[in-house]
Amino acid sequence: THFGFQEVPEVEKESLVGSVFSSVASNYDVMNDSMSLGIHRLWKDDFVSTMLPRLPASVHRNPARPGVAPAPEAPNPTFKCLDVAGGTGDIALRILDRAREKFGNREIEVEVVDLNPDMLHEGRKRVAQTMYYNTPQITFTHGNAQSLPEHIKDNSIDLYTIAFGIRNCTSLPSVLSEAYRVLKPGGRIGVLEFGKVSNPLLKEAYRQYSFQVIPVLGQIIAGDHASYQYLVESIERFPAQADFAQLMRDAGFQTGAMREGKGGAWKDYTFGVATMWTGVKA
Ligand code: SAM
Repeated sequence: THFGFQEVPEVEKESLVGSVFSSVASNYDVMNDSMSLGIHRLWKDDFVSTMLPRLPASVHRNPARPGVAPAPEAPNPTFKCLDVAGGTGDIALRILDRAREKFGNREIEVEVVDLNPDMLHEGRKRVAQTMYYNTPQITFTHGNAQSLPEHIKDNSIDLYTIAFGIRNCTSLPSVLSEAYRVLKPGGRIGVLEFGKVSNPLLKEAYRQYSFQVIPVLGQIIAGDHASYQYLVESIERFPAQADFAQLMRDAGFQTGAMREGKGGAWKDYTFGVATMWTGVKA
């Protein structure tokens, strides 16, 4: 492969991933839009509404009313989300927006964890333009999905998301077992990642697009052919839908329990170009 990833030791792979994302950080949003023709927004919207179909009633506090003393009840637990490989905050901001717009909830908290300081920097800049700036609702932490920062305790998270990030990790089982460890029993995991296109005709067209067009777009828009070549190769290497679902079950997750009535461990978007896998910690 271009970077010969299979042969390089883990630490080196992590530093390569680091340089790829440092190089793409400032162009990240515009590249996503141009490579997917904006469709990644629809995938992410659907992913977040699936992962947050409702908020538990316990997180709705009575709104403060001027002149009325608050009820002397114990504070309700805050719904805690961890968005790993959260980069520029794309998923985190969608979670906060949905909580506020759909459920009138301004207490839910999302911690974004990412390995790359430049992506985190872009994320912080982006949040500074929003109403969540300087609130406890969103925080950014430098950390590795395979060994989450120490302050994230066992059984402490209600919702774990990882979007277009897990394929860059060296050990998928370690990512999944870390996710399992930090989730509360009953907590949910959602993984959004490029899948495999199964229709033979579309598969070939998609392959051509990936290998011929994406690195060229990377060159034209970001002046960086190699990073986008790496992204395409990392998509190729990622397991197929059923294989990844099995890895989730191996980590202890119940798959298919979340998508009410549908029973599937995953859902394909755009013929499998992207796929969402969901699971619940038993
Ligand atoms: N989740 C965002 C989104 O959907 O737009 C960002 C996805 S971006 C393609 C992949 C991110 O994964 C990068 O920000 C990269 O730094 C991060 N990443 C790669 N390996 C990681 C690891 N082992 N732990 C945490 N983050 C990692």
